[in-house]
Amino acid sequence: MTIPAPIEAKLFDKILIANRGEIALRIQRACREMGIKTVAVHSTADATSMHVRLADESVCIGPPSGRDSYLKMPALISAADITGAGAIHPGVGFLSENAAFASMVEEHGITFIGPTPAHITMMGDKITAKKTMIDLGIPVVPGSDGGVDTDDQAIELGNTIGYPLLIKATSGGGGKGMKVANSAEELPSALRLARAEAKANFGNDQVYMERYLRKPRHIEVQILADSYGNVVHLGERDCSIQRRHQKIWEEAPSPGLTPEKRAELGKIVTKAIRKMGYRGVGTLEFLYEDGEFFFMEMNTRLQVEHPITEMVTGIDLVKEQIRVAAGFPLSFRQEDIKFTGHAIECRINAEHHETFIPSPGEITGYHTPGGWGVRVDSHLYQGYHVPPHYDSLVAKLIVYGDTREECLKRVERALREYVIDGIDTILPLHRILAEDPDIQRGDYDIHWLEKKLK
Ligand code: ADP
Repeated sequence: MTIPAPIEAKLFDKILIANRGEIALRIQRACREMGIKTVAVHSTADATSMHVRLADESVCIGPPSGRDSYLKMPALISAADITGAGAIHPGVGFLSENAAFASMVEEHGITFIGPTPAHITMMGDKITAKKTMIDLGIPVVPGSDGGVDTDDQAIELGNTIGYPLLIKATSGGGGKGMKVANSAEELPSALRLARAEAKANFGNDQVYMERYLRKPRHIEVQILADSYGNVVHLGERDCSIQRRHQKIWEEAPSPGLTPEKRAELGKIVTKAIRKMGYRGVGTLEFLYEDGEFFFMEMNTRLQVEHPITEMVTGIDLVKEQIRVAAGFPLSFRQEDIKFTGHAIECRINAEHHETFIPSPGEITGYHTPGGWGVRVDSHLYQGYHVPPHYDSLVAKLIVYGDTREECLKRVERALREYVIDGIDTILPLHRILAEDPDIQRGDYDIHWLEKKLK
C-alpha cells in the first residue's frame, strides 16, 4: 500500500550538480525535463565541458585535481549558497558516498539528494554493511566476521574459510585494495599489499577476508525507497563482464537467472531495505554461484549502469531520486512495475583496448550511433579535450531490444556506427565482445573477461 505524503511536498527550483562528465549531464537532463534549474560546478580543466555549457549557471570551484575541486566540500557548499540552489545532487563517485558531505549539506539548509548520512556510514564500512545484512536475513559471502589485524589471526581464519581467499579493504571501492591468496604461504604478503593499497586509496588500512568464489556472476538489485516506508525493486543487472574488478559491459535482465531466482532475490532485498528504513536509490551487489546468492556490498547512490534498468522498466531513476528527496511518496507500487525486453550497456573508456593505458587528448572526429533502441550518455563532442585528471569513462552506449538476441544485434550495429577519433577507446574491445559466442549464449562469470584477455 502506498502511504501518502503528510505534507504538501514541493519540487526544488534549482539543483547544484556536484559532479562532471556524462553523469552531470545525465542529471541535468532529468532536471530540465522536470522544470528545475541547474547549477554546474567545474574545475579549471573542465571549463569548456558539455555539462558546463548546458547548465543554467556554472561556478568554477578550483584547479584540475579532483581533491581541490570536485572533492572540495566548502567550495561546493559556497557554490550552492551563492547560486541559491535548494538541493545538491552528488552524482556517482566523488562525494556521492561521503556521509560527512551529506551532513554538511543538510546543516547548511540544503537538501542532499541521497540517503541519510547514517545509512551512508553504515554501508560505507563494508564490515558493518555485511553484519547489518546478516541481521536482516540476507546471505553474505562466508568470511571473517570483522577486520583482520595480524598475520597469525589471518592464517587461523584462512584454515576455516579455505583457499583461495580474497582480502578486501573495509572502506574499499573500485576494486582497489583487493588481493587473492591461494595458500597460507601467500597470505602475509597479500595482506601487506592489500593494506598498503587500502591505505593509499582510502586512508584506512583495515582489511577483511572472504572466500574467493571461482565462477560467480555479479548480480545486483536496484532498489528505490521513499521516506514513508514504500520500497520497490527494479530488477537486477548482470555486471559479470569485468576487468580488474571494474565493470565493462552490463545487462538487464541477467542471462543467468531464472524467473524463480529473480523473484526470490527481489523479495529478500525489498524486505531488508524496508526494515532498514532506507530512503532513495540504492543497489545491493551479490555474487551468484550454483543457485546461491552472497551479498557483497550496498552502494547508497546512483550507479553508472542505472540506464539499463531504466530501459527495461521505463522508469527514470534520476527523476524518482529527486522526487523522493523532495519528500514525495513513490507514485507506483511493485505490481505496477513491468519488465520488458533486454538492455545492454557498453562502458566506453578512454583507454587503449589492449594495453588499457589511459588516453586523454582532443576528440578530432565524433559520430554517435542512433536509430531505434539506441541511447548514448556522453559528454563528448568534436574538439573536446579529454582531460587527464579524472576517471577514464567518456561514454556509455545503452541499447534496448525486445529480446536479448535483438539487443545483441543492435549493440553490434551501434558499435559499428560509433566513431571516436583522436584518442584511444575500448570500442574495439566491445566490438569483439558483441560477437563472442560465450557472450551470445550468456555463458560467462566474473573471471571470464580476464581469461579471455590472456
Ligand atoms: P568494490 O567496492 O571495490 O567494487 P566489491 O566488493 O564490489 O568491491 O567487488 C568488486 C568485484 O570483485 C566483484 O564484482 C567481483 O568481481 C569481485 N569479487 C568481490 N568479492 C569476491 C569474492 N568473494 N570472490 C570472488 N570475486 C569477488
